[in-house]
Amino acid sequence: MRENTFGFVGRDMAVDLGTANTLVYVRGRGIVLNEPSVVAININDNRPLAVGIEAKMMIGRTPSNIQAIRPLKDGVIADFEICEMMLRYFIRKVHSRRFAKPRMVICVPSGITGVEKRAVQEAAEYAGARKAYIIEEPMAAAIGAGLPINEPTGNMVVDIGGGTTEVAVISLGGIVVSQSIRVGGDELDEAIIEFAKREFSLALGDRTAEEIKIAIGSACQLEEEIGAEIRGRDLVTGLPKTVFASSKDIRRAIEAPVSLIVEAVKMTLDKTPPELSADLMTRGIYLTGGGALLHGLAQRLMNETGMPIVVATDPLNCVALGSGMCLEEFDLLRDVLSFSSSR
Ligand code: ADP
Ligand code: MG
Repeated sequence: MRENTFGFVGRDMAVDLGTANTLVYVRGRGIVLNEPSVVAININDNRPLAVGIEAKMMIGRTPSNIQAIRPLKDGVIADFEICEMMLRYFIRKVHSRRFAKPRMVICVPSGITGVEKRAVQEAAEYAGARKAYIIEEPMAAAIGAGLPINEPTGNMVVDIGGGTTEVAVISLGGIVVSQSIRVGGDELDEAIIEFAKREFSLALGDRTAEEIKIAIGSACQLEEEIGAEIRGRDLVTGLPKTVFASSKDIRRAIEAPVSLIVEAVKMTLDKTPPELSADLMTRGIYLTGGGALLHGLAQRLMNETGMPIVVATDPLNCVALGSGMCLEEFDLLRDVLSFSSSR
């Protein structure tokens, strides 16, 4: 194939279509766009009113005729039309039509079906891509974390996103064992909402719950336990109310989903061939995705697996950087891309 020999050119781009955030990497420039995967639509005529950061601001604050939608909730494409609309919007935002049609590498959650993958490729082509390639998320995450995926050695990556956690062991450019669970940052937020309701009769919005998680959420005991004021609406009186919660309370609140993530890692380790396990013992397990930033998660995984745990540099950017690296070094990495393009 001629294009393989010449590699990617010009304004080719890589898209990390995440359940929480979408990032776009442009060849030779790096990450140029990073916005929440949210679309606000007018439900009367289905017109999009805002996309990305602007739309996320509207979550929980919309009048009845506006709906803020996350098209990729739970690691699957919940609303394909909206997803396509969003993808097109982001691509157009960074792609100037003056340039030739770009080639595109798109990373999608591995839980989506073959039909959906194909549909994402078509959406990308419809949005102006000459050709779209799909890369599996753990592979992109591992490349972005700087792991030597092409070597005959075991590399383990745990990518904790908004809707999913993907665990994979990679060697010689291929995924040897993997597991994807539909538990990610969103489930931690939901657990905090449940907790506030149960303990304080307090209704919390999704965004508030996420803020609390980021501020004082943790996966194991902290050296110094902290606390925060939580604002919401009293379920009894209907009035605004502020309560105080400690990091210990929040840790207890999110324990169930956190332990599911830990279990997924242990289960994957259990299925890993012994030679590769030995490699992991020296190299360590790499954490990527926003969930890797949860306080104490690395420590917790270390306690429970006995393995060294490394939080990747820039965990939120790993997948986009890894997908981008496939553009920059196409010849080297083309085997990890899937060529089921429609053209
Ligand atoms: P996706 O790939 O699914 O779009 P990301 O890798 O962008 O997901 O991660 C988003 C998730 O990470 C969200 O659930 C967000 O709340 C969570 N997150 C981001 N920063 C932190 C942090 N500092 N501590 C805990 N969770 C975080
Ligand atoms: Mg991701």
